[in-house]
Amino acid sequence: MPLMPKDAQITDLPPEIIFGLTVSYLSHTDVVRLIQTCRFLRHSLNDSDALWAAMTYKRFGVNYIEEGGDWKRACFDVAKMKKLCPHLSEIGARVKRERLEQYRTYCESVKPIKCSDKYCDNTAPDLWMCMTKECSSIGCGRTKAKHGLYHYESVPSHRIAIKINTLEMWCYVCNKWLGQKGTSHTAECERVDQASNSGNSLQELAKFNEKRHKERNMNQVKEGDKMYFVADAFLEEWTQFLLGNKMPGSSVDNSSLILPPNHWDLVGLPAGLDNGLPLVHPGIVPFHNFGLVSEATWNYLVEEYGGGPTLSEANIPLNSVMYEPLLRMMEIAKQRIIDFYKHDGDNGDESEGDIE
Ligand SMILES: [Zn+2]
Ligand SMILES: [Zn+2]
Ligand SMILES: [Zn+2]
Ligand SMILES: [Zn+2]
Repeated sequence: MPLMPKDAQITDLPPEIIFGLTVSYLSHTDVVRLIQTCRFLRHSLNDSDALWAAMTYKRFGVNYIEEGGDWKRACFDVAKMKKLCPHLSEIGARVKRERLEQYRTYCESVKPIKCSDKYCDNTAPDLWMCMTKECSSIGCGRTKAKHGLYHYESVPSHRIAIKINTLEMWCYVCNKWLGQKGTSHTAECERVDQASNSGNSLQELAKFNEKRHKERNMNQVKEGDKMYFVADAFLEEWTQFLLGNKMPGSSVDNSSLILPPNHWDLVGLPAGLDNGLPLVHPGIVPFHNFGLVSEATWNYLVEEYGGGPTLSEANIPLNSVMYEPLLRMMEIAKQRIIDFYKHDGDNGDESEGDIE
């Protein structure tokens, strides 16, 4: 039994079937023509992002565009790219983007980027990164020791490389530039330009790197130094920043470490401390609720990040039995920190290598 009556027309089909047939059998240029000439199809295909996303995936295997990107444009761009170099679509926009992100991560690191060959000391600008997924090989150019070319020759499926300083791509099979500025290959050129433009934020990242480096090496504590309390919530964010995982966090908030004045009578000190400072809560635990930093570090943190209040051992009463456990824990914590810096000093500059 036939699926459709003899006099049926394509316009009798349900929209999802029309959608399916369109995506499976028509080219992107056909679709544009159809939508322009047939009001019914224009309506039922809806010229939507979903349609163009499906077209791009079905035709070219690309299932990813930049955030906020336009699928219709992407579909035509990818079509042009394929004409430009048939190998380019093997890589896929998603992978390319990962590569570029990696490139930025490299830039972020304080060390200069260098050729992956372990005996080669060539650095930027003549460096090429392999664009193949899961491969991070960086080779120097033909005018240097040719490690980029040798990488392709030893793994011929790794055909496309991106020049690290200009973000221009090269296909070793087609033996040509993809997206060299000033050529007619606009599709890839625009993509590459977009990626280079986002490099503006590289300066931002570099700025944060300086800050990171300074703050990592800032805290130094020795025997007899006064130590200041920093609440754990801030330390957690700060650590993530120092590790390079996050942007700088919010201000220091030590209020959770304080005992409210209406509870002072509960610790037998209704009038508070003789020095007039706020009392810390007797239940706080060093390295659990708070960390300890030097006076210089504390002053820096308040200046740079803001917040407070300033808390130190001066906020712990010495004459209250309620505070004896905290005082004992403080002795141990301080000693641990002093030992840490003593040990660190012995290692000299070598300890730096572990961090980066
Ligand atoms: Zn490779
Ligand atoms: Zn090299
Ligand atoms: Zn090619
Ligand atoms: Zn460092």
